[in-house]
Amino acid sequence: MRLDTSAELDTFRAEVRSFIHTHAPGRKTHAGVRAPAARLVPELRCWIARLHDAGYLGRSWPTEYGGLADPRPEYAFVVAEELARARAWGQIGAGALASGALLAHGTEEQKRHFLPRLRSGQDLWCQLFSEPEAGSDLAGLRTRARQEGDHFVVDGQKVWTTNAQHADVGYLLARTDPDGPKTRGITAFALDMRSPGVEIRPLREITGTADFNEVFLDGVRVPADRVIGEVGQGWRVAGASLAQERGSVAARSAEMLNDLNGLLELASAPGPAGAPASADAAVRARLGRLAARVHVADLMSKAVQSRMAAGTDEPTDPAMVKVFYSETNLDAVSLGVQLQGLDGLLTEGDDRAVAGGYWQDALLYARAYTIAGGANEVLRTTIAERALGLPREPRS
Ligand SMILES: Cc1cc2nc3c(=O)[nH]c(=O)nc-3n(C[C@H](O)[C@H](O)[C@H](O)COP(=O)(O)OP(=O)(O)OC[C@H]3O[C@@H](n4cnc5c(N)ncnc54)[C@H](O)[C@@H]3O)c2cc1C
Repeated sequence: MRLDTSAELDTFRAEVRSFIHTHAPGRKTHAGVRAPAARLVPELRCWIARLHDAGYLGRSWPTEYGGLADPRPEYAFVVAEELARARAWGQIGAGALASGALLAHGTEEQKRHFLPRLRSGQDLWCQLFSEPEAGSDLAGLRTRARQEGDHFVVDGQKVWTTNAQHADVGYLLARTDPDGPKTRGITAFALDMRSPGVEIRPLREITGTADFNEVFLDGVRVPADRVIGEVGQGWRVAGASLAQERGSVAARSAEMLNDLNGLLELASAPGPAGAPASADAAVRARLGRLAARVHVADLMSKAVQSRMAAGTDEPTDPAMVKVFYSETNLDAVSLGVQLQGLDGLLTEGDDRAVAGGYWQDALLYARAYTIAGGANEVLRTTIAERALGLPREPRS
């Protein structure tokens, strides 16, 4: 199957594009996966409901929870691409991850409670996985959950929690067996973010915005019926739910195609001495190389989406796409700043900043993609060992 050539997909794409154009509230002014401003959140909750009602999100869910009988996975990728192309908001936070966990491992009661609330935008989720000493080595997490009757009591600290400030529910991983093997002593929970003992402290980033947070958990009581999957099986639950995040690969390459057009405009604009930057052969060569890489990234993403849709994807496919995408993106936005010459020093908030300071902000954010969802260094090891079959590194 090819995702870029079917007339049927083109018709669907046009329908989605028009829907977004007509109904989407606000547009993302910044590059990257950011948390929205608080004032936009009520409108975005309605927009999430609208996307689900139109069959654009949650397509692959079972029909009794609002999914489609014939979900056509490639259509979900088209939706993700069109949202990214329009710089419109989609699902906010960890909703896709959480629904993946609930559908694969949740009880009937949990599915009936949480899935309609997720579809209607009533519940926004955040992902409470990373800790100060457990990012790449997530299995080393130390947040403890000990059972007391029909509750668990949670103590610990999470970090880099995007959207915690807006979230109603946290998809939490905590250690329930401190003495057992690393990955087997972890349990997944749906945590009410308004529970007593949950404290959220914003982290200001290099971009100046505060998209993610530290989350402190001090004696937080979670009812035992909010365990997702079996106690001690949280590692498996988290692994299964990651499959739901796959659409984001499509979205990112669509964003980069947008940026390539922006780069061509910047390079063609008259410079201070009159001639455009593109008059310089070295700039043309760099643009040419970048254009090739951006298109290769897009084709890689489409090839992987096609394999996912056909169920023939390899476990290391997303890692390869992510490493290639994030490093190409970093080069693209760096060029966007360099093409501005001295104006590249102006930033958002300065009236004279080119494109409102978009490229400067995008450059500051671009490093995040080389870290989020698995640092590139770690993903390279995964690719070397699992895709290329190279000998495993000795583990400490
Ligand atoms: C924008 C953004 C949003 C995020 N949102 C969330 C969220 O909502 N929820 C959540 O739980 N987490 C979130 N994260 C956290 C993310 O999952 C972690 O940052 C990531 O897993 C890396 O962990 P770390 O930051 O602890 O870095 P570390 O694991 O400490 O790594 C530091 C450096 O050491 C290198 N390194 C580590 N181990 C190895 C190794 N074995 N081999 C070679 N090099 C190694 C890494 O590549 C990296 O360069 C987010 C991160 C970002 C950037």
